[in-house]
Amino acid sequence: MAGLVFRGCPGTTLPGYGRAVAPAIVWDRDETLNYDPGYISSWSDFQWRRGALDALAKAERMGFRNLVATNQSGIEKGMLTEAELVEISERMMAAAPIVAISYCVHEEGQGCPARKPMPGMVEALDAVVGIDRPQSAMIGDRLTDVECGEAAGLVSCRCEPGESLVEALNRALSQIGTF
Ligand SMILES: [Mg+2]
Ligand SMILES: [Zn+2]
Repeated sequence: MAGLVFRGCPGTTLPGYGRAVAPAIVWDRDETLNYDPGYISSWSDFQWRRGALDALAKAERMGFRNLVATNQSGIEKGMLTEAELVEISERMMAAAPIVAISYCVHEEGQGCPARKPMPGMVEALDAVVGIDRPQSAMIGDRLTDVECGEAAGLVSCRCEPGESLVEALNRALSQIGTF
């Protein structure tokens, strides 16, 4: 089945999917799975971070679904279109074992409950695919990712600049206790 990409913001009709609760790694996108040169509006600007593809493959091999929760306020600001974001997301899912990508288009201060550090995108991902929260983790580069993960009841780990993403995954797995 092709991966899913959808807005996690309230008022969105969530896509249909055979929801089944399973362990997941919920990844941040920018500066976590890929380097962030600013607002990425085309696939040619997208560059996987060191270790990202290995980390995604390892997580899948260990029985986790890879999910992505990404703040994309560039859409609201007019820096990229939603169609561009969807295309980039589809290319990510064609290149790596990612099951679903959820995004929030809103800016800080607009009060969207899907925008990290709020847990709304994890709630939306859970509603669509099913997340076994005590057996799952959130990994991201910012404190807001960690806050989102904790608010959603996931083990939450910050990846450090310069470290391979596999190292961050291993840290998260050791905290879940399934490593
Ligand atoms: Mg980030
Ligand atoms: Zn939103």
